[in-house]
Amino acid sequence: MTAMNNLLDMTAGSLRNKLLAWGEPGYRARQIWRAVYQQQVGSFQAATSLPDSLRKRLMAEFSLGNLTPVTDLRSADGRTTKALFRLPDGKKIETVLMSYRKRRTACISTQVGCALGCQFCATGQMGFERNLTVGEIVAQALWASRLLRTEGLTLTNIVLMGMGEPFHNYANSLAALDRLSDAEGMAMGARRITVSTAGLTPAIQRFAHAGRRERLAVSLHAATDELRSSLTPVNRRYPLAPLLAACREYTELTGRRLSFEWALIDGVNDSKEQAQALCELLAGMLCHVNLIPLNPTADYSAAPTSRESAACFKAQLDAAGIPATVRVRRGLDIRAGCGQLRSQRAKAQ
Ligand code: SAH
Ligand code: SF4
Repeated sequence: MTAMNNLLDMTAGSLRNKLLAWGEPGYRARQIWRAVYQQQVGSFQAATSLPDSLRKRLMAEFSLGNLTPVTDLRSADGRTTKALFRLPDGKKIETVLMSYRKRRTACISTQVGCALGCQFCATGQMGFERNLTVGEIVAQALWASRLLRTEGLTLTNIVLMGMGEPFHNYANSLAALDRLSDAEGMAMGARRITVSTAGLTPAIQRFAHAGRRERLAVSLHAATDELRSSLTPVNRRYPLAPLLAACREYTELTGRRLSFEWALIDGVNDSKEQAQALCELLAGMLCHVNLIPLNPTADYSAAPTSRESAACFKAQLDAAGIPATVRVRRGLDIRAGCGQLRSQRAKAQ
């Protein structure tokens, strides 16, 4: 059985052509677009601005997103919701919605699994299965946005920090971001979107030169090649010196502050020597370091750095004039770390 066409995989132009081919006036395409991305209807049936016959035809020929919820979990404090979705081919992905005082952020997946195999990452531990389509990426943001609407709230931020490496699925990830930023659609400002990469140097250069306006985060985790290669094998291919050169080039070309992610792992990358090496790597760069105590995963036995040691690490960066924040881990009770819910379910079955 072939899966039904997902309307969310269509561009505005291809939708318009389809409607013209059906003998519909072109303005119907814009009505559908608005119903889907602005009103964010949950079904074609609910798109009451459209004639009944057109709604029926849409229902017969298209799905409105193809994510089937398998579970959704809300953390005890109610501020983190995590959904596990099944795709038409049976594969599963996760999306997380986090609410802060002023922001509501959707953490979105770009691949099923990931090929980069970072030791500490639940997604890396499962290996790579496939890239997500544009529609599958977009649908996750729509899910978060619709969920918030039921509470009278709006989605304010999107981070590509769910399962997968966005720069390994470069074209679809960025086309999805263009869709989400579309002024005729969800109109999510590019500055409220963050792309996170494990550090694919050529893709960082490509992103910078393409004039993309989204924020960029680079997952660093170690400041020496030996340690970084052991945590993140991609470092063997793209080692620190050229990676950091591409990062500097990015900040100079775009004038934008770059974020670095650093999962603090007890006794592994939280030493004075690593902090010192990090200060040297980042000296004078327009950047910010996010220090995130490790989320424990099944196949990696190390522990998160204690709160006290995290504060010491940050103090060393402060002293060198490098802006850094220790992030609070969210949704631990619902396994909200990247790839964790799916791994847990796979083990239980
Ligand atoms: N592949 C991209 C984006 C997805 S991972 C990347 O690696 O940047 C999103 C972030 O979660 C990355 O910074 C990653 O290093 C981090 N991460 C993965 N597993 C983690 C864990 N167990 N604890 C803390 N951070 C983790
Ligand atoms: Fe892939 Fe990112 Fe996980 Fe590394 S941290 S395995 S790049 S998803």
